[in-house]
Formats: sequence, structure tokens, C-alpha cells
Amino acid sequence: MEQLRLKRELCGECGGCVAVCDYEVLELANNGLGIKDNLCVKCNDCVIFCPSGALEIADE
Ligand code: SF4
Ligand code: SF4
Repeated sequence: MEQLRLKRELCGECGGCVAVCDYEVLELANNGLGIKDNLCVKCNDCVIFCPSGALEIADE
């Protein structure tokens, strides 16, 4: 199954992907970016948007 993954060491916590996602999958909290993967439709928009390549969709 495909899963959205975060490479935490690359994430600058800019919040841009949170705004790009239409499905409220992503949220920025004190401990960094959170992913509610069950809501993610794997549209790839956040992956394309992320300026630091921190997000990827990969097989589990
Ligand atoms: S767009 Fe990329 S760098 Fe910015 S918060 Fe999302 S994953 Fe992190
Ligand atoms: S792949 Fe699409 S639905 Fe999933 S978090 Fe990224 S923008 Fe949202």
C-alpha cells in the first residue's frame, strides 16, 4: 500500500504543504509536521510543492 512519508531531517517546517493539501492530512505542531495518512488520497500535490523534498509517496 502507498503511504505518504516525511523525511523529518529535510523538513524546514515551512507549513506550505499544510496549505496545499485539500484534505487536511497535514498539520504543523510543536513536534513538527504531522500526517494523518488515513485521510490522504495520494494526490502528490504536497510532494511536488515541498521545496526541500521532504515528502514522498512510497510503498509501505
Ligand atoms: S513543505 Fe516540505 S519543508 Fe515545508 S513543512 Fe511541508 S514537508 Fe516540511
Ligand atoms: S498527497 Fe495530496 S492528499 Fe495526501 S497529504 Fe499530500 S496534498 Fe494531501
